[in-house]
Amino acid sequence: RDAEEFALEDLFSDILDFMYPSLVDADVNVVPRIDPTITLWAHKDELKQVLLNLIMNSIDALRQKKHDRRIMIYSKTESDSNVHITISNNGPAIPPKTIKTIFEPFFTTKELGTGIGLFVCKKIIEKHKGTISCTSSDEVTTFSILLPLHAVVH
Ligand code: ADP
Ligand code: MG
Repeated sequence: RDAEEFALEDLFSDILDFMYPSLVDADVNVVPRIDPTITLWAHKDELKQVLLNLIMNSIDALRQKKHDRRIMIYSKTESDSNVHITISNNGPAIPPKTIKTIFEPFFTTKELGTGIGLFVCKKIIEKHKGTISCTSSDEVTTFSILLPLHAVVH
């Protein structure tokens, strides 16, 4: 499918509707703070795949917590032509030596993991001329995406 114009808020509401049963099942509370004025020009299905992957990884990480499992989603425009999206969770920290390798293909710490998710996320974001990065502490793990509002992609 071609690139199209869409509201970021609509994309997130599709994603969260789709994920709702998994979120309830895993007892995870999602706090979305999406700027309703943000519209993007991008491959919607590809971006959906990125955000789904990040939320699914967060759910996996939060399985290691006994209670108070939370995913925080923020978005804001940056210097008028970019959007900054963050997806955070309050699960266990990713060790510093691991964090360097999480975007590499086939890196996984899960028994049934493929290690493909974050690699694909990075490819899709780079195709849209954006960047994706991760920071992690004992309190919060955050994936940050910086994306042009109007990415010219083929
Ligand atoms: P998979 O989910 O199949 O393991 P991914 O590429 O999606 O593959 O993720 C690679 C690895 O990065 C995971 O196995 C996990 O160790 C780490 N990771 C990804 N997201 C998170 C997160 N939100 N919190 C902690 N670790 C994470
Ligand atoms: Mg994954």
